[in-house]
Amino acid sequence: MTAVQTGEATPAMPSAIKDAEATKTILHTLRHFHLGNPSVRGQLEPLGDDFLPALMAPYRDASRLRYDYPLFLYPAEGGDEERRGAELAKPLSTFLTEATEAVAPGEGSARILKDNLPRLEQALRLALQESQAPVPAKPLLSELSTKMVEQLGLDRVSTEKLQSDLHSLLESIPESGKFLAYGQHPALHLMIHVIRSQVIPRHAHFQREIEKYIRGLKLLLAVEKGKSAEAKAPAALEEAVGHSSHMFDANALADVMDHSHGSIGMTTVRRERVEEALKTLESYHRESILVRFVHTDGLDETLLGDIPGFESVVSDNPCIRAKEIFDEQAARLAKIFAAARIAKLEIDDLYDESIHDPWFETFNWEAFSHDELLLVPAVIALESALRVAGEAMPDFSRLLNSGRPVQILVRVLGHANPGRDSDKDPFAHFRTELGYLGISHRQAFVSQTSAARHEHLLDQFSTALDATRTGLHVINVGLRPTGQDVGLNGWLVAGAALEGRVHPFFQINPSAGDSFADRVDFSGNPQPERDWAVHEFSYRDENGEAMTIEQAFTFADYALLIPRLHGHFTPVPLICETDSLLPVADYLAMQEEESAQHIPYILALNSKGELRQLAVSRTLIQACRDRLNFWHALQEMAGVRSRYLEIGIAEAREEINSAAEARIEALTAEQEQKLGEARSEAAGEVMSRLTEVLLGMDFTSGAPRMPAASTADATTTPAETTAEEPAAPVEEEEDLGSEEPWIDSDLCTTCNDCLAINPQVFVYNDENQAYIADASAGTYAQMVEAAEICPSDCIHPGKPLNDSEAGLGELIERAAKYN
Ligand code: SF4
Repeated sequence: MTAVQTGEATPAMPSAIKDAEATKTILHTLRHFHLGNPSVRGQLEPLGDDFLPALMAPYRDASRLRYDYPLFLYPAEGGDEERRGAELAKPLSTFLTEATEAVAPGEGSARILKDNLPRLEQALRLALQESQAPVPAKPLLSELSTKMVEQLGLDRVSTEKLQSDLHSLLESIPESGKFLAYGQHPALHLMIHVIRSQVIPRHAHFQREIEKYIRGLKLLLAVEKGKSAEAKAPAALEEAVGHSSHMFDANALADVMDHSHGSIGMTTVRRERVEEALKTLESYHRESILVRFVHTDGLDETLLGDIPGFESVVSDNPCIRAKEIFDEQAARLAKIFAAARIAKLEIDDLYDESIHDPWFETFNWEAFSHDELLLVPAVIALESALRVAGEAMPDFSRLLNSGRPVQILVRVLGHANPGRDSDKDPFAHFRTELGYLGISHRQAFVSQTSAARHEHLLDQFSTALDATRTGLHVINVGLRPTGQDVGLNGWLVAGAALEGRVHPFFQINPSAGDSFADRVDFSGNPQPERDWAVHEFSYRDENGEAMTIEQAFTFADYALLIPRLHGHFTPVPLICETDSLLPVADYLAMQEEESAQHIPYILALNSKGELRQLAVSRTLIQACRDRLNFWHALQEMAGVRSRYLEIGIAEAREEINSAAEARIEALTAEQEQKLGEARSEAAGEVMSRLTEVLLGMDFTSGAPRMPAASTADATTTPAETTAEEPAAPVEEEEDLGSEEPWIDSDLCTTCNDCLAINPQVFVYNDENQAYIADASAGTYAQMVEAAEICPSDCIHPGKPLNDSEAGLGELIERAAKYN
């Protein structure tokens, strides 16, 4: 939420004595309520009309909120540059702060005015709260400033200073700037504002272009006239020279003038073409109507107010009529654009009859350049959701596929099903998604937005107009809840629809590229990677303990704002204590078979600040699932969370793991084979040494004989020779396996894990495979730890080098399986 919330007391869970026996009966009744059994209604506590979803409770009193509306709309007229996005409108508080800072920069200046800006802002909010149409900003601000000065009752010096600063502030405000409150039609006003802000500077620019072409064509004709024989006749020469003509003989001058060189005139056809283009351009008048809304008379124009350049057209079929209006305007402008193009070609002497004649014969809107299309006055078909999802669908579809840059604006209510009458049960069928329907018209611009986020909406409109394609705008109008004991306004309800994935934002712009990655804009959605937006929520539990939990805002939470959907909720009795109740978000995250054991609930707060669990009907849960399903489809389209990607990553991971396992297996087999060969070689050698020893033994004395001379160095003494004696190689090999730490480097997969433990002990060789460089540089514990984490099991920790290391008993036990 972008509003500043009011300071309410911390919500509290009322205490009650829990009753396990009663809970069984209560759960039975709640389950029947959940499943839609109307007969249990009488056994349940009625739902008060003052309940709000827990997360929205701080916004109960809308009059105490400071939110984006009213907006200050910058004037569309007067500038040469098109305004876009944030340059078109600003929230009131931002506008006042920035405007004041601009005329009185720095903390110390205009102190009294800056201290009283919140008061002025509040007065403006109150004055504008019932207004529907944009209100001129300067006079209202001037009136409220005067009142504020009177109310403050400051001393003379302070009053004069404040008046002077207020005067500077008022002087800085653009003359035709307006304030727009969040009335019935904020989206329509913003759309008109965007169009006027873009079209007015464009038309001014085009007007200047036309004047330039008119001057160029006139010059061309004047030069042409200068080449003619009549221009060189004595009378014409006298006229050209003017009052000095009596000073020379015009007949003689005409005789001596060259009548041939450089005087090839235009062909008649060309002159007629130039004259025709000039006439057409001179007949051009700047469009007075810049925006036309075509509607079925469902638009109360008094709510729109007096908007310059705006026309409302009533028609039984807005899509068809909008198309006709566009064609009429485009046909009229085609003559002007063709004349302007001909003028340019003629002035540049580039007109080629063989190429250009046939081109201009068939010149229509489909041949317009992007800039020319932007000059055609905007046509907006204002359709109802019910018509578009029903009887008007064929015409709606045809218009979307036509390519004409006509905008279709459909206003929807977040909770209603566009395919059903608003008085019918919205959950009787799956919801018709008009935005999704628009996407199936692949070349149309589609956006889903809401006036509750004015910057998003302004951006959507600007981009749609620039795209010069047929555009569909599905706009959530918000709703002032009626029949409810809460003061929520429509802006807040429209914001809740965005938070609860009821009306997610998106834009599909085919002009941006061919793939969804290029076309889809998913910005503006809160926490787009999650199923539901989650916020912290603080309350006091039944024992008065302060608690803070993560609370999801779901479609069920939004539904509680709509009084006609209250039948889908019932308060859970306070004496109930059970694990069978689950928050809706958790319930929806479960598999359906598993969730069937539970009853879903939302947390809600009544006007006394009591926090209660409200059990939710199965019908509403199914609607939540439907919303979630649509949200997931959008997430996939936007690439925020793609199931394809998740599957691809899992497959790639499995492939890598199996390849690594196969390599380890092959290396292990190879190693085992080498070890086997080494063992048999060593065993052979031992046997032959043993044979030699046995053969040299003196069995009569029982003492060994001297080994054969060939095996001993001739220079060694008998004693030295004896010391080096028998079977040493066998013991040496056994010791290598159990005493010294070592790494079977061939098996190393270069995962770096052991190096991370101690890079002095574990080092890579030239083939990037680990070996033990210096076992004494680390502890036995590190050696054992490395052996345990090594994915290839190729580290053999041997025996400890330092007998005094702590915990050796346990370490040796752990090391045993790796030696
Ligand atoms: S932990 Fe094992 S696989 Fe990883 S680098 Fe060290 S020896 Fe090689």
